[in-house]
Amino acid sequence: MSKGTQVICGKYVLINPYTYVKDACVEFDTKIKDVKPCENLRDTGESLVITHGLASTHTHLGLYPVRSTLGYGLRLDDWVNTFVWPWERFLLSNPDASYAAALVAIAEMLSSGITLFADMHFNEERVLNAVLRTGIKADLSVAVMSGGVFQDFNESLEANRELVNRVRKLGLPELVKARFGPCTPRLLNPSEFAEVVSTARKEGVGVHAHLAEVPEDEEYLRKKWGLSLREFVEYVGLGDGVDTLVAHAIWVQNLTELLAERGIKVSHAPRSNTLLRDGLAPITTLLDAGVNVSLGIDVAPTYSIIDDVAFMIGLHYNGGSRALNAEDALWMASVAGYRALGFGTGELVRGEPADIVVWELTDILPESRVSHVVTSLVMGDAIVRRVIINGREVFRDGSLTGIRSEELMLYRSKLASYLEAFLTS
Ligand SMILES: [Zn+2]
Repeated sequence: MSKGTQVICGKYVLINPYTYVKDACVEFDTKIKDVKPCENLRDTGESLVITHGLASTHTHLGLYPVRSTLGYGLRLDDWVNTFVWPWERFLLSNPDASYAAALVAIAEMLSSGITLFADMHFNEERVLNAVLRTGIKADLSVAVMSGGVFQDFNESLEANRELVNRVRKLGLPELVKARFGPCTPRLLNPSEFAEVVSTARKEGVGVHAHLAEVPEDEEYLRKKWGLSLREFVEYVGLGDGVDTLVAHAIWVQNLTELLAERGIKVSHAPRSNTLLRDGLAPITTLLDAGVNVSLGIDVAPTYSIIDDVAFMIGLHYNGGSRALNAEDALWMASVAGYRALGFGTGELVRGEPADIVVWELTDILPESRVSHVVTSLVMGDAIVRRVIINGREVFRDGSLTGIRSEELMLYRSKLASYLEAFLTS
């Protein structure tokens, strides 16, 4: 074995959610070198399962402190007006709160096996600092809008341009990337939205937008601009020579083929969609049409992707055209997310980045079926013991390796004081 090679072994190594090797070891440095069966594996009494890292393709880490307000039963616009706008204005005058929120949110994400996330918000340079501090992978964008929390459209576009330049200068594309974030059709006029998309195209980076989260998007486009949603997507150029990720895609009845044709990736946010009563995204229809559908936490009462995976399986049993099984769901939360963000195939195969999660199943496993392993994982019957990103351990047994637990506690209490200051202001 060459110098710098590490080895992790487990009862099951999942190459991807459908393929596993039993009693096996993964050899890696910064990349996966080999996965092979190991006959004389020492029985430690632990049921360790090794998987590729997971991805959340749509988050707003700055909203972490107000995440529980998702449980108040408000519809999207009421929730945004009551909690989001006021908190975001507070964040803009207290950017350190975005750093604290991002650190604490990342700690929770890592503890659920997330190794990569796509964030769209403000103060993204602070989120970038938290990314570099913790060693998680990220794809960052600014929520570009006409005014809103910014003075005007140009100020928000400029903030996004600065972020793209900063990330480019950093020169760590295997760890962090940036793209443009035209926020949502109702917060930009179509020509501004198109300008953001064409800027991304010129800069050679992708876009990340909200699309068809609520029926009001299309109603508004028709009334105000005389455009159907499909005409809007064509007019602004989403997916037209520009790598495009859209969050939600719930009200897309007439858009499925266009999304598939243009390779537009969809991030599905099951808990956020349900708690805000946005509607039921036609996930199985999109998957059947060949659309890449990954999972996003968006804003939810916890920032654990496993909570979304488990919730999604139940959700689509209820209302989808067919059920999603545990393997499909884990695929969306890992392979699809990695591919959507261009960070590799999302599988534990030779040459891929060594993004590895070691889980301990909390239940005794029947030996015969790997399905039980995947089901246990996605239903939350496992705890994350170790997280490795590009070969470097970033999380072990409840703690981040880059930040001491005492310091993280300090950031948690800082967040509580920020929230207190916000609520009393
Ligand atoms: Zn969102």
